[in-house]
Amino acid sequence: MVANLAPSVRATSDPTYQTALQQFDRAVAYLRDLPDGLIEFLKWPRRELSVNFPVRMDDSSVKIFSGYRVHHNTVLGPSKGGIRYSLHVSLDEVRALAMWMSWKCALVNLPYGGAKGGVIVDPKAMSVAELANLTRRFTSEIILFIGPNIDIPAPDMGTNAQTMAWMMDTYSMTVGYSVPAVVTGKPINIGGSLGREEATGRGVIVCMLEALRQQGLHRSPKDINVVIQGFGNVGSNAAQRAYDLGFNIIAVSDVTGGYFNPKGLNIPEMRAFVQRSAKRTLQGYVGDAERMSNAELLELPCDVLIPAAMEGQITASNAPRIQASLIVEGANGPITPDGDDVLNDRGITVVPDILANAGGVTVSYFEWVQGLQEYFWDEDEVYRRLERVLIKAYDNVVTTAEHHGVDLRTAAQITAINRVAQATLTRGFYP
Ligand code: NAD
Repeated sequence: MVANLAPSVRATSDPTYQTALQQFDRAVAYLRDLPDGLIEFLKWPRRELSVNFPVRMDDSSVKIFSGYRVHHNTVLGPSKGGIRYSLHVSLDEVRALAMWMSWKCALVNLPYGGAKGGVIVDPKAMSVAELANLTRRFTSEIILFIGPNIDIPAPDMGTNAQTMAWMMDTYSMTVGYSVPAVVTGKPINIGGSLGREEATGRGVIVCMLEALRQQGLHRSPKDINVVIQGFGNVGSNAAQRAYDLGFNIIAVSDVTGGYFNPKGLNIPEMRAFVQRSAKRTLQGYVGDAERMSNAELLELPCDVLIPAAMEGQITASNAPRIQASLIVEGANGPITPDGDDVLNDRGITVVPDILANAGGVTVSYFEWVQGLQEYFWDEDEVYRRLERVLIKAYDNVVTTAEHHGVDLRTAAQITAINRVAQATLTRGFYP
């Protein structure tokens, strides 16, 4: 039973948090042996920090920014999760993302709990110096909340390896010695792992291959049409990996819109274009591609759709028009529960986010382990281990789905929540 929880924690109008809570409720309906109090404990965030802080801008003015760090669950180990820079960040969104991190880490059997953080900011409107100031000040605001054995941030939307370098440096300067293991997704020359940059996108494609194999789709990759929404870290790395394996990527998009060519896009050329562009977008790309909106792109006829941009992209209103037979979620929460219902009724397979994009946190874990051991692996070793972890998790999810007769998302959540629940029962409730 819920007892004495602050109403502000329980009541949410945020669609992303509503999605995370509804997914949880659907999964725990299959875990009837768990005590009610334990289910409530697993459902709500353990601790949350909200901060408002000043940043010196290039024109010498001072602006105030708001940020958050939420630890959802810490039963399996220190909490782990990205830091997001976006104007859409809110406490509820961060709560949802932290909850998904708990299930993601448990699903791939990492010794981590779940966390997430974010700052309400448009990083593309800031200079490098302003972003460095913002990151350093935000890090010092949340410094009591993070640490290599407490909570380990990583990049997410709007942040990257450079952001992690500033966070690591700020933390290290504060404690007086270098602590590479306080963040993951760092540049290689300060303790990052080979393969981390590509890991999430690569993991998405590992899951896509597993799903195609299980669907018995034995066509040659060149005859399998793939559509990808989002061309940032996850989307562009997934696109590159699929392209390298010979798949026909017929459309990709970013915040500036979609680019379509039924004969296949030149992904390396598009990635190089983004690298060169000041705002790191596809705006102005004039290669062999037709323009379309993000909404149109989602509804293109294709075999595989990879939403890899943001939450809430497929809902009950556009799900009836989705033409892919397989959806692999690169982003967190791109499909709402009512969207899921439509897709399930239509027999469209969805490989859920907590499985499909778990490659990032898995290689983050490898980076943390390598940092603590001060012994670094080559790229082949990273990818070999990554593939092994994801395929094992994929097989577990399929087994659970068959056992309960449920879709892959519910099965993934059942598997993950039950792992955290059993660990909690083994530890017992303190005191
Ligand atoms: P990113 O900032 O590198 O890229 C985001 C991409 O989405 C960009 O191409 C951007 O232009 C595009 N985009 C933004 N708004 C859009 C809109 N309204 N319509 C279409 N495209 C839009 O971020 P990322 O790290 O690639 O993260 C993408 C998603 O994957 C997020 O949901 C994130 O939480 C999730 N994720 C990221 C990682 C990681 O390792 N980076 C790991 C797991 C999950």
